[in-house]
Amino acid sequence: MTHPHDRALPRAVRQAMPMARDVLVEVAKLHGVCIRPIPLKRLDIVTGTSEIIDVPCGATLDSKCPPCAKRNKQLRKAQCREGWHLDAEPAITPDEANEEQRWLVEFRADYQAQREAAEKAGDDTTELDAIITGLDEEINAAGMRGNVLGRTTAKRSRSTKRRQDAPDLPKRKMTHTTLGRTFHGTDGKTYRPSLFVTLTLPSYGKVRDGAPIDPDAYDYRRAARDALHFSKLVDRFVQNLRRVAGYDVQYFAAVEPQKRLAPHLHMAIRGTLPRAEIKQIAAATYHQVWWPQADEVLFEGDHMPVWQDGTGYLNPATGEVLPTWGEALDTLDEDAEPLHVIRFGEQVDVQGVLAGTPDADQCIRYLSKYLTKSIGDALDGGQAQKQHATRMLDALRYEPCSPTCPNWLRYGIQPKDAKPGMKPGRCRGKAHKPEHLGYAGRRILVSRKWSNKTLAEHKQDRRTWVLEALGQADKPSDPHRYVWRPVPVGDSNVLPLAVRLLRSVHERQRWRAHLRELEARAAGQELSAIEDTGRAA
Ligand SMILES: [Zn+2]
Ligand SMILES: [Zn+2]
Repeated sequence: MTHPHDRALPRAVRQAMPMARDVLVEVAKLHGVCIRPIPLKRLDIVTGTSEIIDVPCGATLDSKCPPCAKRNKQLRKAQCREGWHLDAEPAITPDEANEEQRWLVEFRADYQAQREAAEKAGDDTTELDAIITGLDEEINAAGMRGNVLGRTTAKRSRSTKRRQDAPDLPKRKMTHTTLGRTFHGTDGKTYRPSLFVTLTLPSYGKVRDGAPIDPDAYDYRRAARDALHFSKLVDRFVQNLRRVAGYDVQYFAAVEPQKRLAPHLHMAIRGTLPRAEIKQIAAATYHQVWWPQADEVLFEGDHMPVWQDGTGYLNPATGEVLPTWGEALDTLDEDAEPLHVIRFGEQVDVQGVLAGTPDADQCIRYLSKYLTKSIGDALDGGQAQKQHATRMLDALRYEPCSPTCPNWLRYGIQPKDAKPGMKPGRCRGKAHKPEHLGYAGRRILVSRKWSNKTLAEHKQDRRTWVLEALGQADKPSDPHRYVWRPVPVGDSNVLPLAVRLLRSVHERQRWRAHLRELEARAAGQELSAIEDTGRAA
């Protein structure tokens, strides 16, 4: 056997040998071990001891950690299967609030009191309002829905023209169910048909192998704006779908990249509607983006708005203060046109699916197929497609991605929550990045009453299954027993990654062996049971 430290070996031979460390990562992947584990310090308040524990990175859509991405994909498949053909209404009970959530709401209450006192005293409340807005965002980020005050914030009053009007569609009387109709066959069976729908954006120009035939004629601006506002269009589709269907339609959908680098949508829908109606809804659905204009460039190059503390951004030539986001919205009057109107393309695919058929399984596989890839990952068509992606990024570079996008300065408007140092073309928002290509929304969209379980509960299911198979009861541990703390980077108590990976692989092998043993024992028992019945007969 050749040894890599053998100096007599030609350099080329030595270099052709794999690095042991790379092999370790490959082995870890094969065993389904997270390759980018996060070390956390777990303090046991009963025993007073602490321990460093690796938790999986939980990578979802990126392929930086294939084992975690794969695990997430499996969970999503389970979630999709669980809800599609439900035959009883799911019971939705909100989770009990956790400590962090309670703390945030208490903190929010303090600020509410301070604000009320300041208002009474006639003081400026701008700063307190900013803190409260931030806290409300934190509250939502901590997994709580809605606003603590309920729906009290006054909606910006909109002129009749700017209201999103409902398209002309048939409307059924609303019934309070999330379940679709069932049909009874002559064989006495009950059929629970559902739908699998694919919705696509319109054409921006002819494409071949994922790249435009004539790039100059390809409508990049429209493609960019459509990608930016795609999730809103999906929301509208669901609203219209529910109105037409006359029940609380539930769905599990995946936003996936097409080869031409536009997002499209696969949607499993519980219950069924005539195919023609789905097509009619898709054709009638549109979303208007009521944002200020972003077509006429007012500032570029060296001619840029300047920041003044306490005032905001000014026109560098005249010293005039640029309109704020709110002011710009207020000037959109009766004659204003929406910045953008987005619709689906003509390509609408509707497939009827029956519960428990191979077709249903095929659709579920299809729904999760691209989950571990980003929109930009659809790139595989070579040079022409790479250039296409670059042009798409260029088109997105100066498109405002949100009210807070620095690109608004280019069009003479102060972005919402403007702060110093903002530069058009330098927005750090996800939508402008090559892996997102305009679509920064969630890749999996699941309606609230899809199944009885949240993703966390599906995770718990798997854990319980494994522990049961290992003969250990999954007793809920005392939630207050452990305190978890982050481990600072470079902490000497954290072993090198390679050592931790080796341990995890070993652990996994032990589990596997144990599981196999249990399976063999179970099979053996079954066999002897069969033998017993055989003897008895
Ligand atoms: Zn991982
Ligand atoms: Zn942006």
